[in-house]
Amino acid sequence: MVTEPQAVVHVHEVMIIGAGPSGLALAARLSEHMPAANFTDDEHQRFHWINRHRNQPSVKHSKTGAETRRESPAVSSPHAKIDLLVLDATDKHWMARWDGLFKMFDISHLRSPMFFHVDPAERDGLLSYAHMNDREKELNELRGCVGKELSKHQRKKRERSGNQPRTEPTIDERDRNDYFVPSTPLFSSHCNCIIDRYNIRDDIVSHENVEDIRYGILKEYSDTEKVFTVKTDSKIHHAKIVVLAVGGNPAQIPCKLSAEEMEGATHAMHLKEMPSPHIRRKLADKIRTNILVVGGGLTSAQLADLAIRRGVSKVWLIMRSNLKIKHFDIGLEWVGKFRNHQHSRFWLEEKEEERWKMYDTARKGGSITPAYNKVLERHVVSGRLSMLQKTTIKSKQWDPTSKTWSVSLCGDEQELPPIDHIYFATGVHNDFECLPFLQSMISDFPIKACGGFPCITQNMAWREDVPLFVAGRFAALQLGPGAPNLIGARIGAERIAWSIQDKLGSEEGGNSTGSHRDKFNYATGRCNSFDALADLDE
Ligand SMILES: Cc1cc2nc3c(=O)[nH]c(=O)nc-3n(C[C@H](O)[C@H](O)[C@H](O)COP(=O)(O)OP(=O)(O)OC[C@H]3O[C@@H](n4cnc5c(N)ncnc54)[C@H](O)[C@@H]3O)c2cc1C
Repeated sequence: MVTEPQAVVHVHEVMIIGAGPSGLALAARLSEHMPAANFTDDEHQRFHWINRHRNQPSVKHSKTGAETRRESPAVSSPHAKIDLLVLDATDKHWMARWDGLFKMFDISHLRSPMFFHVDPAERDGLLSYAHMNDREKELNELRGCVGKELSKHQRKKRERSGNQPRTEPTIDERDRNDYFVPSTPLFSSHCNCIIDRYNIRDDIVSHENVEDIRYGILKEYSDTEKVFTVKTDSKIHHAKIVVLAVGGNPAQIPCKLSAEEMEGATHAMHLKEMPSPHIRRKLADKIRTNILVVGGGLTSAQLADLAIRRGVSKVWLIMRSNLKIKHFDIGLEWVGKFRNHQHSRFWLEEKEEERWKMYDTARKGGSITPAYNKVLERHVVSGRLSMLQKTTIKSKQWDPTSKTWSVSLCGDEQELPPIDHIYFATGVHNDFECLPFLQSMISDFPIKACGGFPCITQNMAWREDVPLFVAGRFAALQLGPGAPNLIGARIGAERIAWSIQDKLGSEEGGNSTGSHRDKFNYATGRCNSFDALADLDE
């Protein structure tokens, strides 16, 4: 008699590293049997109706003709089907880092439009959530986006007349509903609704910092099947499939500072309080305070505004190029009506270097929104803000006694009064090869890098033979310029879920039951989706 080897270690089916939007989008997508990307609205409605009623068939009384509905046993949650563990370095619940940053910067509304969200079930999930809960008042219209569309005829006419077609594409009336931004609390409620809908509350998220990932044979588990061993700051876990949803590299101040100097400088992504305790003491004593904010992106504008609102006397905001004003951090051509055109160009491009160039061109440099530009203009008029473009720091010296910097600048205005604090809102660089927890994978399963991003496969995997999937920013060479945003989280989740379901499905092989196979076909968009609907009806 052949005895099965006894598994003495627990090997999760899927482990997601990172409980931010990308991790959440994937966990939700793995639990959604009718993903929006694969099904029409009609199919969706029918599937959900069947699912709700499948266990409560009506029974018609033969004599009276009266119908009664049989009570059904509770339907188990779909997520119970995948053994999933989520690890996050920030906290033990979803979206902790996102929530922390939005609270820290006191951001009232998201920057992204309504179809940027993490709901796998519905492309308009966030918009319908707002309407269903009577929260339309929490949507702010993005003025100047909609209604300037050129028809094909107008475009051709412009071209013929020698006029360049307008470079920035716009959005037509039909899509007006998309071009609102949700309030921070509304977006947060929608995320919580998704977490509850798929029953993926916090018990599957563990607060651990991943330090090392290895892939190989684990004797206690199998002599033939490779699995991942993930070491964190407190435990060791194993999984068949691992997904990296870690955002980007940790933020770094772009110049070396001593421990003493760090008292007067902070990177925006490490901000714990605004303003610093030293400035707060000065404000309490009614002493004048000055700060310098470095960076040309939305975060620098938000910091400058926040500092002024919290009482700092004067803010200098410097940026090395000209101020760019854009609704989103990628151009409208990647968001609006013609985004499919851009995406198909991106996806058809085989060379990673070319894709990286497209990514870089679409995102290059920071930009601020028209709404924040107005806020900054008001501060400039009031004299509380000086905005210096094409300006960099020439030299700076920290005086530990007065706890102020002497700063001189390269640009029009060269000398500043003593500065109490410098805030660097200089973004994060992309270099996955620097991430300490990837060093083992890089040496055991090397892959090509381009522009600091891993050249992952079309299936979003590290390599064909390594089921380490990559979501979010580091998947930029597959997802395009939207990779670091919410739209990248949702599209990435869709593509990774296909690959995961493929892998887990092929492990089950021919053993899968009819109903399981149908659901698998459903979820991965295979065969004829109506066949599966017919079977559910039986
Ligand atoms: C202030 C601010 C506002 C933004 N507003 C918008 C917006 O309105 N719309 C939009 O589309 N985008 C916005 N963005 C971009 C935003 O960062 C992304 O949309 C989103 O956060 C990307 O999600 P993510 O899950 O890929 O990465 P993250 O949100 O960065 O999440 C990564 C998670 O991985 C965890 N992690 C990292 N390393 C490890 C490790 N070693 N071990 C365990 N866990 C780890 C982190 O703790 C974190 O929770 C904003 C960004 C900032 C900074």
